[in-house]
Amino acid sequence: MDNSRQKGVLYIVVPCYNEEEALEISAGRLMEKLHDLKRREIISDASRIVFVDDGSKDRTWELVKGLYGSHEEIKGLRFAHNRGHQNAILAGMMYARTYCDYTITIDADLQQDINAMEDFIKAYEDGSEIVFGVRNSRNTDGLFKKLSATLFYKTMRGMGCDIYENSADYRLMSAKALEALSGYREVNLFLRGIIPDIGLKSSVVHFDVFPRMQGKTKYSLTKMFTLAADGITSFSIKPIRMVFAMGVLALLVGFGMVIHIIYEHYFGYTVSGWSSILMSIWVLGGAVLMSLGIIGEYVGRNYMETKQRPRYYFWEILSRDEGQNDHEA
Ligand code: UDP
Ligand code: MG
Repeated sequence: MDNSRQKGVLYIVVPCYNEEEALEISAGRLMEKLHDLKRREIISDASRIVFVDDGSKDRTWELVKGLYGSHEEIKGLRFAHNRGHQNAILAGMMYARTYCDYTITIDADLQQDINAMEDFIKAYEDGSEIVFGVRNSRNTDGLFKKLSATLFYKTMRGMGCDIYENSADYRLMSAKALEALSGYREVNLFLRGIIPDIGLKSSVVHFDVFPRMQGKTKYSLTKMFTLAADGITSFSIKPIRMVFAMGVLALLVGFGMVIHIIYEHYFGYTVSGWSSILMSIWVLGGAVLMSLGIIGEYVGRNYMETKQRPRYYFWEILSRDEGQNDHEA
């Protein structure tokens, strides 16, 4: 077996927004976990925990500073203002990638079972570049969250996004996967959709979810909808194609109507003006919708181009003259 994958440097990335109630308890539990993994020689002594303060308005940053002052395994990053969960995770991972062999991202409330980390690391040591955390059940969620989440994942998959149902932002990313991720320059971030798109070797680990113990959810309804909208629009231009499809359908109905209208007109069942108005509604309506779809297709392609996503990423390179070429996608 390849021993180079053992005892790697782990960076645990923890996004925090107004988490003063949860932070100290969570930090204690995470440090305990880190020490345990170090003691059992599963991870390197250089492993760290990085708290990313997403522009909190409470005492979160003071607490991070306090923890940093008294524990060498703690690091902290702070945003000037609230940039959202996805940005906080990304920032933490991008910071960590120069120091570590792999990162694990986890929420500050530790609703996700931290004991699954060992399974993540095992999967990494067995060769996975990305290990996705998938929750065992949604029993801790209310009915609304359960239903909206199911609908969301079904829609995303329907739109052609390769997302795991019930996947979370609890996952392991190797330094290589992080390098590939750094090539995605888009501003509207939906990591759960982008990361499977990288295409490196990956696996799945199932984990339990617990109710939030301290503080309240930081995911307001607006934030949840924004995330869902980002997910759908950042991944596909299918909604635009639906407009085109509607146009084609309306035109087809329109042609059927033309035959019907001529028939009615011929036998004189109609009031004057009816035939011409109805024909123009269906035929013109269909033509307008179809044209909108065609214009939308160009707008959509333009949108995908502006993201400047990497076209490919090398998994491995066999070459004797490294450094002579810049392998940019
Ligand atoms: N979070 C963040 N920025 C935000 C909202 C949330 O960094 O604008 C963090 C929050 O501190 C937590 C994680 O994202 O670590 C998940 O949030 P939360 O647990 O409130 O979401 P829920 O579990 O209720 O979906
Ligand atoms: Mg939570």
